Amino acid sequence: MILSDIHANLEALEAVLRHAERQGPIDTIWHIGDLVGYGPDPRAVIARLREFQHLNVLGNHDLAAIGEMGTEEFNRYAAAAVLWTAEQLGADEQHYLRSLPKVVCQGDCTLVHGTLRWPEWEYLLTEAAALEQFNRQRTPYSIVGHTHIPMIIEEPDGAEETAGLPLPRLRLAHDGERCFLGNQRLILNPGGVGQPRDGDPRAAYALYNRDDAVITFYRVEYDLATTQAKMQAAGLPQQLIRRLSYGR
Ligand code: ZN
Repeated sequence: MILSDIHANLEALEAVLRHAERQGPIDTIWHIGDLVGYGPDPRAVIARLREFQHLNVLGNHDLAAIGEMGTEEFNRYAAAAVLWTAEQLGADEQHYLRSLPKVVCQGDCTLVHGTLRWPEWEYLLTEAAALEQFNRQRTPYSIVGHTHIPMIIEEPDGAEETAGLPLPRLRLAHDGERCFLGNQRLILNPGGVGQPRDGDPRAAYALYNRDDAVITFYRVEYDLATTQAKMQAAGLPQQLIRRLSYGR
């Protein structure tokens, strides 16, 4: 099961776990960073992920929440949420986040929150950034997060070369879309569980079926009103509460 950017949204996490479990037992969870930040349940979300066999990499919000990245580059709402999150975390949660790597290679896949060039910061949203990623990628596939937008990026084959370098193709991954893992190198983004940004407020995630060599993208409705009420009670910024309704 591939999750990214849960962002302390427990209702969204539980919804994708239930959705995945309906299709069979969850073997391992890969989380592509930003477990905390923005949402109202940082401790519960960390505890829930740790109940599973899992791999996890550091995101920018995780780093900021443990004081290992300044918040100057964050917008003021995100920065306020980071400060609130840091106050919630106990020593054990801080220790867990501190123990996370920035990049993990697992079999055919490399996991990194942003990009291999700038693991905790770069948004992989352009052909140029995708090309840089493919140049640094030592495995056939890499899985990124950070943009909160589900995406499939294929490495161009040389045959399509016209003038200059052939550019990778970026496209949105839709609910139910299956991506077969074959000879073509790929960069995949499962989208954001806890704060989708492609205009669809439903939680996004992907399931990796190793036997069939296929990754399927899903969208799942969750109890957004409860998350928003918790954020309200915690005094988190209105802007962050509202954006969950729009998936932006
Ligand atoms: Zn994020």
